[in-house]
Amino acid sequence: MDLKPYAADPKKSLGRQFKETASKLRNDFQRDRDRIIHSGAFRRLEYKTQVFVNHEGDMFRTRLTHSLEVAQISRGISRTLGLHEDLAEAIALAHDLGHTPFGHAGQSALNQCMKPYGGFEHNLQSLRIIDFLENDYIDFKGLNLTFETREGVLKHCSKKNAHKLGDVGKRFIKKTQPSLEAQLVNFADEIAYNHHDIDDGYRSGLVTFDQLRDLSFFNDICKEVKIVSPTINDKQCIKSTIRRMMNMFIEDLCTHSQNKIDQARLSSIDDVRNASPIIGLSDNMVKKQQLVKNFLRKKLYLHPRVKEMTDNAHDVIEKLFKKLMQNPKIINIKNNDSEDDLAIMISDYIAGMTDRFALQTYEKICK
Ligand code: MG
Repeated sequence: MDLKPYAADPKKSLGRQFKETASKLRNDFQRDRDRIIHSGAFRRLEYKTQVFVNHEGDMFRTRLTHSLEVAQISRGISRTLGLHEDLAEAIALAHDLGHTPFGHAGQSALNQCMKPYGGFEHNLQSLRIIDFLENDYIDFKGLNLTFETREGVLKHCSKKNAHKLGDVGKRFIKKTQPSLEAQLVNFADEIAYNHHDIDDGYRSGLVTFDQLRDLSFFNDICKEVKIVSPTINDKQCIKSTIRRMMNMFIEDLCTHSQNKIDQARLSSIDDVRNASPIIGLSDNMVKKQQLVKNFLRKKLYLHPRVKEMTDNAHDVIEKLFKKLMQNPKIINIKNNDSEDDLAIMISDYIAGMTDRFALQTYEKICK
């Protein structure tokens, strides 16, 4: 489909950090996406937790399946709005690369360990991976992705860090916006996890059908599903309800964002960068989204069984960090770096671990 004038255009990209010859077959955003898919960090997402620790069961979402769902939703929204699908897909596939093992529990534990050395933030770590840590190319460190993909991966950033980051940090100082493709991936991310967490929550047995029906938004749609198909069982009803809910959010996001695009009379990506945020849900759907999030927090994320998993994860990360700081030779790091550099190397190492590898290493060196 034709790109709208306010879409990101690979021909007008702000470029890569290291100049490269253009590909004969692929545009620059396609190349970014392909490099992400072929990276080691992307493969490791398969064994990293979303909500449930990877070994809890094979049917739950992992960071990999989550990222694929975010990419699928992002491509659909991009196509509807006339934006660049390849860029949205690249950002979506890379958005969670920097996650530690054990999901948010892992991140908060590593952040605590790293407090004296500048902290740890998974979003910054995703950028660090694509800019420095991937190590497959001869001519440069990282994946040497375009500015547009890098700015999309860096969702948020403190002013202090923004100053250190150079080009991609500037918008947090100037308070300008990223491309519409970057903006929409943030919403696709939320739409994906809110709905797949309901699904995983139910299939794990931690969230029941009755509890779901106490969520008014869910219950209203569930009733509609039952009118159309009165004989379906609970499981089928939940699946259909989730699909309808997702559709409502995606359709609302597209309609509301298109209205805002029209009102702002955008005619270039520069207009996008200088406008207020464009992509968004209507007020009515923002309220519904909040209801879903509150429900998930109460019933799933703070469920005693999930809490037990996350407490364990905290312990594993903390002990791994301490042990490796005391004895970095275990992972072939020499002890002659400054304490700050050592901590950053160990944090990179731990953040890169899969759930499984973190547990194995913990068993081996901390017990
Ligand atoms: Mg995500």
